[in-house]
Amino acid sequence: MNLDPRKAQLVLEMRQGGVADTRVLSAIEETPRDKFVPEKYAEFAWDNRPLPIGYDQTISQPLVVGLMTQALELTGVESVLEVGTGSGYQTAILSRLAAHVCTIERIRELLEAAVLHLAELSILNVSTRVGDGAEGWPKRAPFDRIIVTAAAAEVPQPLIDQLADGGILVVPVGDPGADQKLRIIRKTDGLLTTDELGLVRFVPLVTGGLA
Ligand code: SAH
Repeated sequence: MNLDPRKAQLVLEMRQGGVADTRVLSAIEETPRDKFVPEKYAEFAWDNRPLPIGYDQTISQPLVVGLMTQALELTGVESVLEVGTGSGYQTAILSRLAAHVCTIERIRELLEAAVLHLAELSILNVSTRVGDGAEGWPKRAPFDRIIVTAAAAEVPQPLIDQLADGGILVVPVGDPGADQKLRIIRKTDGLLTTDELGLVRFVPLVTGGLA
């Protein structure tokens, strides 16, 4: 364990919040969140709270990143699709726990910054694209896991179609202005089952047309 007290405190809060998977906790501890936030917020980077990243978007709260990542049940061999790259922080966490991550962001400037930050950390197992992530990434499908880090009114059908059999899709569903339900959708022998993992609050998934 790293002895930085801010990291230790964050890991403690994650454990208290329900993140038990030690691989997820290590990934959070070892990923420098301060590198993914604007410099003026770097001092708050180890606080368990979302922070602004520009363009009216936010880097997610670490506890939510931890719970969503844990729900993906990654073992290291999976191909993952992330919708909503944002700062690239969640991408970096996923890259440590899966074989490959494809990530889509609709705001080009955010994606460019995220790509730089991922490169600075020598993360190589990530493919990125500017686009509408609600359409998925058909050429790279199917995906063993899909994570959506923006709130959708409905689960986009292309994402369900691009989920591999035996796969897990984690997506906040609901009104963007209010709390959303975090849905865990599994595809088994072509059949879908859905669990809910509490309430979250995300920026909206904006579909159709680029920024
Ligand atoms: N996972 C990010 C959270 C980013 S906030 C992080 O750790 O920083 C959600 C992001 O989703 C925003 O950057 C927003 O621009 C993006 N987004 C919203 N709708 C989208 C869409 N249809 N396709 C791709 N990205 C989208």
